[in-house]
Amino acid sequence: MSQFWSPLVRTLTPYVPGEQPKIAGLIKLNTNENPYPPSPAVMAAMHAVTADALRLYPDPDSSVLKQTLADYHDVQPNEIFVGNGSDEVLAFAFMALLKHSSPLLFPDITYSFYPVYANLFGIDYEEIPLTDTMEIDTTEYAKRDCGGIIFPNPNAPTGIPLPLAKIEALLNAKPDSVVVVDEAYVDFGGESAMPLIHAYPNLLVVRTFSKSRSLAGLRVGFAVGNAALIEGMERVKNSFNSYPMDRLAVAGAVASYGDDAYFRQTTKAIMESREEMTAELEKLGFSVLPSRANFIFARHPSIPAVQLAAGLRERAIIVRHFKHPRIDQYLRISIGNPEECRLLVQTLTLLTSRF
Ligand code: PMP
Repeated sequence: MSQFWSPLVRTLTPYVPGEQPKIAGLIKLNTNENPYPPSPAVMAAMHAVTADALRLYPDPDSSVLKQTLADYHDVQPNEIFVGNGSDEVLAFAFMALLKHSSPLLFPDITYSFYPVYANLFGIDYEEIPLTDTMEIDTTEYAKRDCGGIIFPNPNAPTGIPLPLAKIEALLNAKPDSVVVVDEAYVDFGGESAMPLIHAYPNLLVVRTFSKSRSLAGLRVGFAVGNAALIEGMERVKNSFNSYPMDRLAVAGAVASYGDDAYFRQTTKAIMESREEMTAELEKLGFSVLPSRANFIFARHPSIPAVQLAAGLRERAIIVRHFKHPRIDQYLRISIGNPEECRLLVQTLTLLTSRF
């Protein structure tokens, strides 16, 4: 606390990201990063950026990246917004589209950045409980008066996907509210809402390069939606930072989309490991929610999750544990490479056998 802080800063409770410890040999399964490196084409493209290019500001509109994304996803460049990680894209969506007089709705168990942004931007919000089976019940959202709706699909940290038909029904029920679908994990077997953007001017789909494209360190995210929604976000972005996308990030992101075979191969490998790891954990007595993400959310019927997380940590494996009352018996475990998954299962076998 300092006398120099603004009244707003005094009220903030910042988001706490999963830790990034600098311990050699650590098996890091706590922040849903991709265990595989980015495509070699990404590294080559970034190496090809010249010193002279870095001397100059980047294109404020990131038009090469927007065109690449537009071609791949079959939309127009003016239906795309790009930003410094999807966290930044989400921040612009909150400011531009989700601040209204009625409350913003999101699940009680979800990405914990949503309430942080709502508080930062002074947006009133209501948390809608997940069902007993930890699913998003879209009919609960349809019933309420609201200024906007946001949820991840698949949801985080549960990993449970929502069928497209339910999203479409919600878009129909709420034509006057923006519905933001945060598809950070959709490439691991979820159903994207992107094909609906031309039919629903109130739909914004947010994506990231951090998970399925192995580029969490590059900080690239984007949103796809009706051109008027995108224009609103551009107005905020151009009132805040003209150049959120640096030249290296644009070169790497464009090259990632150029290597579709690699993308398919690595996402498939992660989905296969997820299914194997789910089966192994179930053999150990865990209940595992049906995940379509690059992580699983699992609970043991008798051993407290805090204890398991501590036991794993002592053996240099870190996973995520949330102290939220409804989910404090769960561990969120990112899918690692096959060797990391094997070591995780081996260590959990040891820890559970002691009880
Ligand atoms: N949305 C969800 C649901 C996430 O879990 C994350 C990753 N923590 C993000 C968005 C943000 O990802 P990034 O800023 O790396 O694109």
